[in-house]
Amino acid sequence: MARVHEVLVIGSGFGGSVAAARLAEAGVDVALLERGPWRDTLPVQSMGIGNRIRYPAGAQLYSRGLRAVHGRWLPRQGLGLSRYGLFELHAAGDVTTLCASSVGGGSHVYTALNDRPRVPDYWDGHHPEVSNAALEPHYQRVMEEMGGRPPRLEDAIPNLTAQRYRESPLFDATETLERPRHAVQFPATPGTSREIEWGEGIRRREADWKDGGLLGSRFGTKTTLDFAYLAPAMRRGLRVLDLHEAISVHRCRQTHAARYCVQTRNLYTGRIEPLYAEHVMLAAGTMNTLRLLLSSRDEARGLDGMPALGQRFGTNGDAVGWWSIQDPEADFSRGLPCHGVMAPREGRREDDPLLIEVGLVGIAGMPLPAPLKRKLRRSVMLLAMGADRADGRARLERGRLRVRYDRDASPVFGRAEALFKQVGELSGRKVRVRRKPFTVHPLGGAVLGATETDGVVDAAGEVHGFPGLFVVDAAALPAAPGGPPSMTIAAWSSWVAARFLERRA
Ligand SMILES: Cc1cc2nc3c(=O)[nH]c(=O)nc-3n(C[C@H](O)[C@H](O)[C@H](O)COP(=O)(O)OP(=O)(O)OC[C@H]3O[C@@H](n4cnc5c(N)ncnc54)[C@H](O)[C@@H]3O)c2cc1C
Repeated sequence: MARVHEVLVIGSGFGGSVAAARLAEAGVDVALLERGPWRDTLPVQSMGIGNRIRYPAGAQLYSRGLRAVHGRWLPRQGLGLSRYGLFELHAAGDVTTLCASSVGGGSHVYTALNDRPRVPDYWDGHHPEVSNAALEPHYQRVMEEMGGRPPRLEDAIPNLTAQRYRESPLFDATETLERPRHAVQFPATPGTSREIEWGEGIRRREADWKDGGLLGSRFGTKTTLDFAYLAPAMRRGLRVLDLHEAISVHRCRQTHAARYCVQTRNLYTGRIEPLYAEHVMLAAGTMNTLRLLLSSRDEARGLDGMPALGQRFGTNGDAVGWWSIQDPEADFSRGLPCHGVMAPREGRREDDPLLIEVGLVGIAGMPLPAPLKRKLRRSVMLLAMGADRADGRARLERGRLRVRYDRDASPVFGRAEALFKQVGELSGRKVRVRRKPFTVHPLGGAVLGATETDGVVDAAGEVHGFPGLFVVDAAALPAAPGGPPSMTIAAWSSWVAARFLERRA
């Protein structure tokens, strides 16, 4: 008889790592499936993990930058490029999304901004048992566990917006704008970068302002989930199955010893293996959790029901602009993974999206011609985010995940465009904007709701009608937080784990 796990978690991003860690800490028998590899970083080396894969660098960026690309004309399962690829691109109908693949999920590529929702009373009104007050202790705990803080002028960080715009008559980045935390290890002495022990034998470096960008953090200057959550959880018995991809979820017959079977592709051997569990927690990131649920219901016939599945998909109002500042003195490829928030001094509005500047930290290792690299170093990406209406709809069309989404229905995009235009006019340097929605913050589609017609999951994160099946990642978020969402995902996952443990006691 095959082993039956008490809990099987699918995916190791903010949703999966936090839930797995909470359950392992309480002594639950939990295994975590992750399709990506462990990354070869200083903290992961210090964990004693044997099979580590380097972040793509140099020419490898072409062969291992992308895991897969999904699009209408590509194979049903997407165009697989490398099982070690760092990113995954979904050209899914009206929206294009980018996400990551690694043990630690999005934390490897994210810009390390940790924040509470910008939308006031975010959790109130979606379910009678869920509220802002109930989630608050979970925010406090996850933000403390991720560490970091807002940057200070005395940290002497290159390109910090608060420093650059300190005396600018045009732009503002001071304390008048609420500044999120950056989950990096700030140097104890500005200008130095020591290797330190972070606790329980984990080694990492203090930030040197060259490591930790969108292509990963080799020295652990950015806090990633593999060492922050999974390392302590593994010491308490968590099993992490790296390079294992869930293909479909099936409810077992009542006579079976387990409630769920997850068909899994072992990417070490290429074989399909069934894994059995009493409880399954889906945390494969919005796009992949939705694909798993939809294909398990509509193709594999392992699940049924879920009438609200795919509804209320959102983009967190993401809009990306390329601001070609071309300051010959500047090198924006140094600094924090995100240089900070900024806004024009004049004409600000309450409903303005949050505007952040992101430089291409780590570009030195990219295989690009020197003149292009120079050009890129002198520019920044501007990312605007705010609450969209999250009224998109995801479904499978001929086996491919497609999203219908009307950008013009959400006023936040018009405001972002106006802001980009204003920044361009004030600086004399145009901000180039992509009109088609592109998001690094896809969310919803399997949202919290009081009944099965309002949402897919209940207040305990459990799928209506499917005891033991949970959604703990961004797919469950009931609305756009309007700012960096990772702490909201982590807090939700922590809340679901706490409810699970209460019921189990
Ligand atoms: C470039 C970039 C910058 C960002 N910056 C920020 C930021 O500064 N602040 C912020 O709050 N957010 C940021 N985000 C967004 C943030 O990373 C995501 O919102 C967050 O990671 C989502 O968490 P999650 O748990 O839902 O999924 P993920 O973190 O995406 O984790 C899902 C995991 O599941 C794995 N997986 C997928 N399918 C399967 C399968 N079938 N079987 C097994 N495993 C599977 C994936 O490999 C992945 O590791 C950024 C995102 C990107 C791409």
